[in-house]
Amino acid sequence: MLKRFEFDSLIIGGGGAGLRTAMQLAQAGQNVAVMTKVFPTRSHTVAAQGGIAAALANVSEDNWLWHMYDTIKGSDYLGDQDAIEYMCKHAADAIYELEHMGMPFDRNADGRIYQRPFGGMTRNFGESSISRTCAVADRTGHAMLHTLYQKNVELKTQFFIEWISLDLIRDLDGDVLGVIGLELQTGDLAIFHAKNTILATGGAGRIFQASTNAYINTGDGLGMAARANITLEDMEFWQFHPTGILNAGVLVTEGARGEGGYLINSNGERFMEKYAPQAKDLASRDVVSRAIATEVKEGRGIGLNKDGVYLTLAHLGEKLINEKLPGIRETSIKFANVDPVVDPIPVVPTVHYMMGGIPTTLDGQVRDTINQTEIQGLYAVGECACVSVHGANRLGSNSLLDLIVFGRAAGLHIVANSKKNKIKKLPLDAGQVTLKRLKKLESQVDGEDPRALGNELRKTMQEHCGVFRFPELLEAGYKKVLAIEKRVSNLSIQDKSKVFNTARTEALELQNLVHVALATITAANNRKESRGAHSRADYPNRNDETWLQHSLFNPTDHSMSYRPVKLKPLTVDSFPLKERVY
Ligand SMILES: Cc1cc2nc3c(=O)[nH]c(=O)nc-3n(C[C@H](O)[C@H](O)[C@H](O)COP(=O)(O)OP(=O)(O)OC[C@H]3O[C@@H](n4cnc5c(N)ncnc54)[C@H](O)[C@@H]3O)c2cc1C
Repeated sequence: MLKRFEFDSLIIGGGGAGLRTAMQLAQAGQNVAVMTKVFPTRSHTVAAQGGIAAALANVSEDNWLWHMYDTIKGSDYLGDQDAIEYMCKHAADAIYELEHMGMPFDRNADGRIYQRPFGGMTRNFGESSISRTCAVADRTGHAMLHTLYQKNVELKTQFFIEWISLDLIRDLDGDVLGVIGLELQTGDLAIFHAKNTILATGGAGRIFQASTNAYINTGDGLGMAARANITLEDMEFWQFHPTGILNAGVLVTEGARGEGGYLINSNGERFMEKYAPQAKDLASRDVVSRAIATEVKEGRGIGLNKDGVYLTLAHLGEKLINEKLPGIRETSIKFANVDPVVDPIPVVPTVHYMMGGIPTTLDGQVRDTINQTEIQGLYAVGECACVSVHGANRLGSNSLLDLIVFGRAAGLHIVANSKKNKIKKLPLDAGQVTLKRLKKLESQVDGEDPRALGNELRKTMQEHCGVFRFPELLEAGYKKVLAIEKRVSNLSIQDKSKVFNTARTEALELQNLVHVALATITAANNRKESRGAHSRADYPNRNDETWLQHSLFNPTDHSMSYRPVKLKPLTVDSFPLKERVY
């Protein structure tokens, strides 16, 4: 018999999204637990640098409708306008709530929260750039995560730290009743039985070789969803951040360009003027990444292999760099061996963010897109979810906002429905499929080496599904990932020990990564247009007639289906489709 814990609500993930949801539930008096692979304040949210967007108007006049317009345009019109309205309208309150909880925002001279310009954020529907991104120097995520963690400690949220969730438990009605988890320290397994399970497992950037993401970002929530026959939405859309440090992957925040930094090629030219005459270096991320890739392709790259460009900050002066970008100065010295006060930083577009994910309603309920219903007992929030506010391209500083706005929304929905929610009886075979999977992993001899196969997967995705996408490469990449998926069921590990067995964890994570990679390359191969971050050489234009649709990957048979984008906001007029220029 497996050990069993019981809760009103169980949250998988202790990043910004998980902790904001937990806070809402604990405040309502729920018995709530957060399970996390790492100590909560080591979640990837801690690495967020540049800031969090909201139309506070602390620097100049602003309006949440302008923020809404920018987000819709940034999404290349694939974002759902109802969800985007909800997020932008609730943004200011979400920031003030963090402020009142003690988050140490930078301040203007008048004492109000400091805001900096960020890519794609404009005044008066695209007229000029605006300062909308609230920041704590270049460590905004760090400050936000610690604030939320402390609030949860105060509220007595229970934490299961260094536990890895392996699978969702679904009954014959299709309802979710909790998860089966493994304690990393002991290798012990337990059933976590709950009225509500909330996936807040973050991103999956580790399907690619060069990524700004933490090593723990392995898409476990998506893997669990896929194994429970839940579709994954818009998985072809992956954001390449224009400025990862060349050959290191470590991020240099867009805030560096927000503060006045700019990109130059090997001829010393400010090339962004050519690609985005108005917004220049503060065009949206897909646009800047493509511009860099084009400069490199045309021979104007820098570095040993001429495969990057320079980001120059020296003209900003040491004082500003130390005050607003201290972490960037430190990482540049450590990872690129350059001090940005003197020399430019070598950078390259690097995989950063997953726009797609587990499909949800505005309340965070996971949608069963096959049967067109909501799955009872299951929610998803944060980067693992697709509500969809980011569409085909996310604007910088909109993710931290997404975490807290929709974390709160999911919490509110759970509390509002808590009276009618009873704990359901566990199926007799709860967890059995997972036990079988684990047993196979432990007993398999001469199987595939997880490390080598993981590297093969990452290399394949990097080569076949990059900033620009080519039909032959996509088709060949799809076949390769399909073959890797088969091999993943044959993993074997040498180390069979129980205590902190990192080889076993890595193998389990690879079993999640492969679902994410297959969904990504299948959806990318199938979408015959260019939109946002998905840029095909054979279909260079956006095609709204056929492709103004969200893609849905069915993990059971690998088929694709589509649903129309929601163009109708909640209360305001729809923003009409336009050509996207910056
Ligand atoms: C370097 C970097 C800088 C960024 N800067 C910004 C920025 O300035 N502004 C902005 O808006 N966005 C930024 N982003 C994006 C943003 O930080 C992320 O999208 C966001 O923090 C994700 O939050 P999350 O709560 O969804 O997940 P995470 O913070 O990634 O947390 C995931 C949690 O899930 C847990 N978990 C995962 N799998 C399991 C499992 N199987 N079992 C148990 N627990 C599990 C982990 O332990 C972790 O606690 C940045 C991202 C990166 C990588």
